[in-house]
Order: sequence, then C-alpha cells, then structure tokens
Amino acid sequence: MTLALHGLGVSGGYAIGRAQLYSHARLEAPHYVLRPEHIEAEVARFTEAVETVHAELLALQAHIPGGAPTELSAFIEVHALILSDSMLSQAPKRRIREEGCNAEWALAQQTEALIAQFESIEDDYLRERRHDVRQVADKVLKSLMGHPGHAPLKTASEGENILVAHDLSPSDMVLFKRHTFAGFITDLGGATSHTAILARSLNLPSVMALHNARALIREDDWLIVDGVAGVVIVDPDAAILEEYRLRRNQWLLEQKKLRRLKTSPSTTLDSIDISLMANIDLPVDVAQALGENAAGIGLFRSEFLFLNRDDLPSEEEQFEAYRAVAEGMNGRPVVIRTLDVGADKSVRWMPDNSVNPALGLRAIRLCIAEPQIFITQLRALYRASHYGKINILLPMLASLTELDQALALIGAARGSLRVQDIPFDMQTAIGGMIEVPAAALAAEWFARKLDFLSLGTNDLIQYTLAIDRTDDAVAHLYDPLHPAVLALIDHTLKIGQKMGKSVSVCGEMAGDPRLTRLLLGMGLTNFSMHPAHVLAVKQQVMRSHVGELAPLAKRLLRAGRPERIQELLERINS
Ligand code: PEP
Ligand code: MG
Repeated sequence: MTLALHGLGVSGGYAIGRAQLYSHARLEAPHYVLRPEHIEAEVARFTEAVETVHAELLALQAHIPGGAPTELSAFIEVHALILSDSMLSQAPKRRIREEGCNAEWALAQQTEALIAQFESIEDDYLRERRHDVRQVADKVLKSLMGHPGHAPLKTASEGENILVAHDLSPSDMVLFKRHTFAGFITDLGGATSHTAILARSLNLPSVMALHNARALIREDDWLIVDGVAGVVIVDPDAAILEEYRLRRNQWLLEQKKLRRLKTSPSTTLDSIDISLMANIDLPVDVAQALGENAAGIGLFRSEFLFLNRDDLPSEEEQFEAYRAVAEGMNGRPVVIRTLDVGADKSVRWMPDNSVNPALGLRAIRLCIAEPQIFITQLRALYRASHYGKINILLPMLASLTELDQALALIGAARGSLRVQDIPFDMQTAIGGMIEVPAAALAAEWFARKLDFLSLGTNDLIQYTLAIDRTDDAVAHLYDPLHPAVLALIDHTLKIGQKMGKSVSVCGEMAGDPRLTRLLLGMGLTNFSMHPAHVLAVKQQVMRSHVGELAPLAKRLLRAGRPERIQELLERINS
C-alpha cells in the first residue's frame, strides 16, 4: 500500500530505489558479488570464522583469571550459545549461496534481521540480549575481515538502494563517503545538524525528522525520496513512479543548465565581485570544490580527520592532510578551522560526559583545556602554510579571555617551529567564528585582535533561539529569518566594514539560494558553502543589483512579524 511520510528535506533532488535498513555493521562490512565458482569457498571461510570465534570463547572460558567477576563465565556461555544458534551460524551461509555475496555482507544482513526480531520482544531481559547478538556478530565479522576471501566479481549496486535509519551520527556519515547509496532517510535530526550538512556534502537526496520511518518501512520496499519537498513515498504505484521519474529528469536538466555558469565570474549587475568559497570535510573534497570552480576553501572542518578512530591523528598525519588541501587548491585561499569536536561530533578518544554537550567543553574550549592537542594541530597547520595560502579559523569563540588564551597557544606553536627552523608563512591570517550571540554582540572586540571573522550561522541560530540543531522535535522553530538572528548578522557585517576586516558567512545560510539576495543586500560579499550549491548561488549573484537590494534588505531587517518578513523576502527574490 502506498504511504507518504513527511519530514525535512535536507538535501535536494529525487531518489528512487529499494529500502536498505541501516546497521552499523553493514556500513562497515564490504559488499561484493562473487563468481559462482567461489561461493562454496566463501561458505567455508564463514564456517572457519565461526569456528575461530568459538575456539576463542572456549579458550577464554578455560582461562578466566582469578578475581574476575563471577558473571563472566555465564556471559561467555551466553555468547557461545548465540554463536551456535543456526540463525547466526547457518543462515548467513544460505544468504551467501542465494545472493552470491561475500560472507561479511551476509553476516551483517543476517545480524540486522536478528536484531530487529529482538527489538520487538516485550520482555526487557530478552530484548537486551540484542546487544550480545551484536557483540558476537562483530567478533565473527572481525575474524572474517582479518582473512579476506576471493576478489569480487563486481561491486554490488548500492547506488539503487536508499538507506533507512532511525538516526545517523556525523561519524556514520563520514563512512558513507565510501558507499554509494542513492539517498537516505532518518527518523531523527535537524536540517543543520552535522549529519544533514554531510548529507548535502554527499549530494544525496535525503529527508530527515520522519519520526517513524524505520519502523514503518521494510527491507526492500520501493521508496521515492523527495529531498526538495521533504517527502518519502513508500511502495509507490506506477503513476506516482512515473510522475517522479519526470520530476527527477527535470531536476537533473536544471542542474545541467547550472553547469554552464561554472566559468562565469561571480559578479553582481552593479559590478560587485562576490567571493563564493567551498566548505569541505576531508581533503578528498577538494576535487569537488575545484569542480564547481569555488574561489577557495572558506571552511575546512578539520575535525572530520579526528572522527571514527580510537587515537588522535599525529602532527605528521595532519600536516599531510592540510598540505594536500593547500596544494590541491593551487594558490586559492584555504580557511582551516581548528578542531571543533563536541556536541553532535563526538570522538572515541575523548568521551563526552557533559550534561548538555552543545553547551559543554567543545571546540575552542576543549582545545584550551587540552593544549597539547591544540598545539599539535597548530604546528601541523603552520607547517602546511609553507605550501599554500592557509588561514586559521577558531571555532565557538565566546569570551575575549578565551581568544587571548588561544592566541597565546598559537604564539607557542609558532615559537616551537621557529626554534626548530621549520619554515612557515608568518602572514598566516587568524580568524574567529561568530557563532555565539555573545561573540556577535562583542564582534568589535574580537575584530580588533583577529584578521577576519566568519559567521557560523548554524550555531548562531541554535544559540540565539535556544534550539538544539540536532533535535527534530524543535526543528520547525529553527529560523534563519528570525529578527534577532538577522540583527546579529547585520551587526557583525557592520563591524567588519567599520574595522576593515573581512566577514564571511560559512553556515548553511550561505548556500541557500533563497537567502542569497537578502545577504547581498545586507552587504555580504564572502560566502562559503557546500560545493554543490556554488552554482545555484552564483546564479542569484549574477541577477542581483546590490544597490537596489540594500533598501529592501533594510526594510526586512526592521520588520518583526514573520508574515511581513516572508512578504519582503519574496519581493527581494522577485
Ligand atoms: C556553523 O555553526 O554555522 C558552522 C559553519 O559550523 P558547524 O556547522 O560545523 O558547527
Ligand atoms: Mg558551528
């Protein structure tokens, strides 16, 4: 039966494909199709992995150290029982034979099916055993991954699958960069959560905040993801499918037309040059930034180098990553933000126990509390500055004392390089992110000590309106056009003009073509956004006359009522 689910469209376009229910293990398990003559060997490889884990459990049981908790033995027994259950030890073999897939994939799929069964059990104790199932399956998965089998015949066509998850973390999304799903949908999440930002960076049609999609959708259901309207259609009939195929083609055509603007200068009708830069998460994203002809990197969220691992990246590893971006951009400026972990970007090497992580020891606060981590990163950044035009950006500044402390640590990092005679660019600019209302209101004080400012509107909106950007329950209250938000942006831009310091916007507002003309009218000339949005924003820039937009923007800034603001925005965009 056809069913329509409504949520937040966080990444544009349309996807049509089959549902693949999310599992962590699945994401990490490779997926490939085997030659028929290799299938029995693959079954044997699976059997061997199960036997290895079984032997490990027996060995553990036989050598329980004195003083270990008494439950340990019972616990190992439960794991051994789970492992010998045919649902885990036999069913994956059937999948390998039927689907011709590799053992890791068969196991991950079977685990997911099993866990779903456990989740529907009423009895609390039994339901909790799903964690044991996951742990046992992970052990087998690890054993398999340590002993790879035959080469794949071909990579399975993930491109036709749509990932359906209850929730996804930014770390999960980073793993997606290695997979090619046609789109994804989640029950939780807000439009400017880092998960949504990464979805945009993958350029995948996606809808979030669907509330109960994961429970309603079954594996292999046909789905349409309408990332434009924020709708998911489950089991569409032939007429709806046809309608969406047409819409998708139309959308692709529009995208193709935009490509013609790639080499056009980003200049307004009254000859003002507007800088359109790219936000990236990993060095590999440089290719996409260049592909869209971005003027530079306006925000490299360096923290993504720190996720999905148990240890910290070394100075050398970071240096190589920053150098790759600087060199890859071929002389175009690169703004690298120092570590901004905490809140929804949690890291394994420093578990966050804050009561409210968004207001806790995150970003620059964490770097000041852990100076060794910060100095290692700063040394890597400065070393890379020798190879391209790097600018350093400090996230989440709120107090001037914090800024002084950060600047002192920057001085220390530079000093240590000087002592070692390691070359770096002495002119490397230092900027600060304006993403806390306190920083916006005190922008003048920050501008005195910094070379440039960058408005992080995602957090600025979150902290101004007291709305958790990751919480779908308040996602409808997240409002970039709130008069308070606009007043803070306006004030920061004015301070920049007065002090002769450049101010950019690098939050999601910069990449929303519906807001381009308003921001231009407010005097913004530096935008940084996901590369996929550069051309749509450029299209708006090229049809804008800042001199004509400025008085309209001024009126909108004075308006208070949401309907009036919408009315004026429509006029600005017409
Ligand atoms: C912002 O807050 O607007 C920003 C650009 O930083 P992030 O989205 O990574 O928090
Ligand atoms: Mg931020």
